[in-house]
Amino acid sequence: MPFSINNYYMATVPTYSVVVPLFNESESLPEFIARTTAVMDALGQPWELIMVDDGSRDNTAEILLEHATKAENIRPILFARNFGHQIAVTAGMDYARGTAIILIDADLQDPPEVIPQLIEKWHEGFEVVYAVRRQRDGESFFKKFTASAFYRLINRITDIEIPLDTGDFRLMDRKVVDVLNRMREHHRFLRGMSAWVGFRQIGVSYDRAARFAGETNYTLGRMIKLALTAITGFSFFPLQVSTYFGFLSAAVALLAIPVVIVTRLMGSQAFTGQATALIAVLFFGGVQLISLGIVGEYIGRLYDEVRGRPLYILRNNPDEPVKKS
Ligand code: UDP
Ligand code: MG
Repeated sequence: MPFSINNYYMATVPTYSVVVPLFNESESLPEFIARTTAVMDALGQPWELIMVDDGSRDNTAEILLEHATKAENIRPILFARNFGHQIAVTAGMDYARGTAIILIDADLQDPPEVIPQLIEKWHEGFEVVYAVRRQRDGESFFKKFTASAFYRLINRITDIEIPLDTGDFRLMDRKVVDVLNRMREHHRFLRGMSAWVGFRQIGVSYDRAARFAGETNYTLGRMIKLALTAITGFSFFPLQVSTYFGFLSAAVALLAIPVVIVTRLMGSQAFTGQATALIAVLFFGGVQLISLGIVGEYIGRLYDEVRGRPLYILRNNPDEPVKKS
């Protein structure tokens, strides 16, 4: 990302960039900024707070701009519409200038007080320090169960090893972020991408709190979408499944033909009747449609990449200082 060196915060390069996606977080925002500022100021290094408003429908953007006029190290990035959490984080990483970049949610489920522990590991020489949830308050059994099943599935079928029970809350070294920023895929699964790049990685455990205010934006539908992105982004397994299944059913058919011939010649009625035929036809019709759908899933993603549209559209210039109103 090219920057113009014509404004105040370009003068010092911050050591830390804290990147926060925001979607309808007006209630948590002041509390989040206060707590994060207390933690980060205590470290005694220059730092910036990059807050990305992901097309919020409440007054998150106004509150954000308001805070930015008061604190010089707050850099607002305003999206023209809602692009989703992963894209919001991506935009924040594009504009982050720190030597270490910290991704954190605004709802205070990831306590900012954990950040110094992440930084400690970074000082020890780790380039990716991800936060591992020890326990999760205020989340349903269903959410926890699906989340854990999801991680196990990903680790089984993809080439990458994503640590269990981690979210996007993590610290990444400049080197890692530079690599990630060059990966412009539209369907993004940052946890996977940051595992894929390698480097020295380590986890730090913490207790995940309940949401400070508001509701989760990750509905079941969005979780399924993210799971699909993770799977299609890092493996061809679903495509291979139809190949395996094709071979398997061909083998079964080959074996079945002589069996049916022999039983018929022996006068048995075991393999007659429309029901049997109908079930077989419906079953393989279903399998074929599912296979087509899987292929379609990959083609759709391919199409998104080929079009090469920008990942996000901004309605402000993050390099320009926010004017006091
Ligand atoms: N978020 C976002 N865009 C969206 C949905 C969520 O930027 O379309 C932000 C949200 O404000 C929060 C973070 O992403 O800071 C995580 O979202 P949420 O708390 O809803 O997810 P959960 O913690 O339940 O997985
Ligand atoms: Mg949350």
